[in-house]
Amino acid sequence: MNNKYALVIEEFACWGCKACEVACKQEYNPVDAANGIKYLSVWGDGPKLMNDKLDFMWRVNVCKHCDEPACVKACPEDAIMKRQDGIVILDDERCTGCQLCINECPYHAISFDEDRKTAAKCNLCHHRVDNGLYPACADNICLAHCIYFGDPVEIEQKILEKRKASQELS
Ligand code: SF4
Repeated sequence: MNNKYALVIEEFACWGCKACEVACKQEYNPVDAANGIKYLSVWGDGPKLMNDKLDFMWRVNVCKHCDEPACVKACPEDAIMKRQDGIVILDDERCTGCQLCINECPYHAISFDEDRKTAAKCNLCHHRVDNGLYPACADNICLAHCIYFGDPVEIEQKILEKRKASQELS
């Protein structure tokens, strides 16, 4: 299936400002954010020794809306589905809290909501996307301009052009 939508984050360009994390929290406040569940989180990977040098990177943990999502296959209740436009949605009304999806996701992108006893993950703000808006994290709030949403081919092109421009400047 060709995805219509993708969320791409250039982690190497991330400053760790956490604007995306705040935007995500604001979008789901107060109900979902109140119990400490994060659909998207920014964390510092390091500092650690790599080839005798100290290395540090900001990482952004969020559902990748995989082409072939392991979580969809793992769910016995069909509570997770991949839409034609590529967005992988978890319907917490159907979720029975078995946690099989949590174990199967290779990106650790699914949390367990202890209050509701259901799985919880980024649904790529489909309520916004279906109304012609960007997901909250991708709505021009990233201070480092490293979050892209839209057609994956166009995103790849934009990133290539940005890298080319920065190489020409350096
Ligand atoms: Fe992929 Fe994990 Fe997101 Fe499922 S929850 S689509 S397996 S990243």
